[in-house]
Amino acid sequence: MEKLYEGKAKVLFPAGPDTLRVYFKDEATAFNAQKRGLIPGKGVVNNKVSATLFRYLEAHGVKTHFLEEVSDREMRVLRVEILPLEVILRFKAAGSFAKRYGVKEGTPLKTPLVEFSLKSDPLGDPLICPEAILALGLAAEEELSQVRTTTLKVGELLRDFFAQRGLDLIDFKLEFGKRQGEILLADEISPDTMRLWDQKTGEPMDKDRFRKDLGGVEEAYQEVLRRVLRG
Ligand code: UDP
Repeated sequence: MEKLYEGKAKVLFPAGPDTLRVYFKDEATAFNAQKRGLIPGKGVVNNKVSATLFRYLEAHGVKTHFLEEVSDREMRVLRVEILPLEVILRFKAAGSFAKRYGVKEGTPLKTPLVEFSLKSDPLGDPLICPEAILALGLAAEEELSQVRTTTLKVGELLRDFFAQRGLDLIDFKLEFGKRQGEILLADEISPDTMRLWDQKTGEPMDKDRFRKDLGGVEEAYQEVLRRVLRG
């Protein structure tokens, strides 16, 4: 079938007037696509982890675009108009945050922190403050407040979910979409978009293994899937 859009990690196909089929690829990119590679089996892991987390969040009252898993690498979702924002929630300092403020990776934050980046490959997803989001009309005040509240709720739910599976949720990125005036959680939630550290060893079990050439990338993704499906 004709694809609608191909991104760095996923391909979108039309699946009826109101729904899409999302295909998860094994291709991996980092540092604004300057680094490219393949993580065999990643597409299957990300599809199944995302599907499981969307179902878990829905069961706890979070509205998402997720409809159903249709194969190992594919899910069906509602069509939404994606807000051009990456919404990041941090529990501990890592990655660009640790670098920006000169703090050690793993430093706990006093409160969970919501940050926004403008989704723009040419600009390298720059940080954007809430006032600029409103001034540029990227979201309305009420939408932004809903995005923030939902992100904090998702953070608490996911942190519990992973803690029960021996994983420390350090930070993650969400994207939201609009459908018939309603804000829905969209995109994916996977080891590509989260930092998860093993509670016992402190080892990263996510895309940082690829970003930092730590080795054992495939194995870490498979281990996250195994723990997520453990229920
Ligand atoms: N993240 C993402 N997509 C991006 C940027 C970040 O999924 O384009 C995720 C990343 O995996 C991490 C969190 O958002 O879990 C915070 O990332 P950070 O801002 O520290 O950026 P990074 O150091 O990963 O570039």
